[in-house]
Amino acid sequence: MLARVRLVLVGPPGSGKGTQGPVLASHLGVPHISTGDLLRRHVDSGTALGRRVAEVIDRGELVPDDLMIDVVVDALGDAATRGYVLDGFPRTVTQAEVLEKGGSALPAPDLAVHLTIPDEVVHQRLAKRAIEEGRRDDADPEVIERRLRLYREETEPLIAHYRDRDALVTVDGDGPLEDVSSRLLDAVSRQAPGEPRR
Ligand code: AMP
Repeated sequence: MLARVRLVLVGPPGSGKGTQGPVLASHLGVPHISTGDLLRRHVDSGTALGRRVAEVIDRGELVPDDLMIDVVVDALGDAATRGYVLDGFPRTVTQAEVLEKGGSALPAPDLAVHLTIPDEVVHQRLAKRAIEEGRRDDADPEVIERRLRLYREETEPLIAHYRDRDALVTVDGDGPLEDVSSRLLDAVSRQAPGEPRR
């Protein structure tokens, strides 16, 4: 019923997009595409893009929209027609608008899922992830503050953007992993259309 659904996950750092994204994608049978993971892979492989974005990521800033759009078009490939769970993109209204006007290379999402989480839980989760995954941008309090500020300034306007288009569902991202997964799956199966928007 949910074949080829296209979802975007919106939430602050540490809200569980990277944990819940793959769970959701595997239930829906669509690819999970995390722009943060894609960029980190470029950094680790030392590609030209990786060298360009490494410092931006370490400082907790946003990679410029035009660069990000190229990355996503490239990564989506035929996933665009097979459906997707996009995690970490769009992160600005400009990116969301490109996703809406992007045509066959970047077909618009059916639904945006907003994962909510209290600030103190964000800090706890990022501290844990800094130790477990060694991400430098999770270890520096100043960088975390910058990421949270940019989330509020640049990404949060997406909530109203998708609500206005009647394409928003909000899910409580706090609590045990399995509980959040089942809330998410429940919310998505109630909201997502059987066939994607054309
Ligand atoms: P994430 O793994 O989603 O926390 O992303 C890690 C970092 O990658 C972010 O702090 C940004 O520097 C960069 N990044 C990921 N996705 C985007 C995007 N859609 N737009 C701009 N920068 C991004």
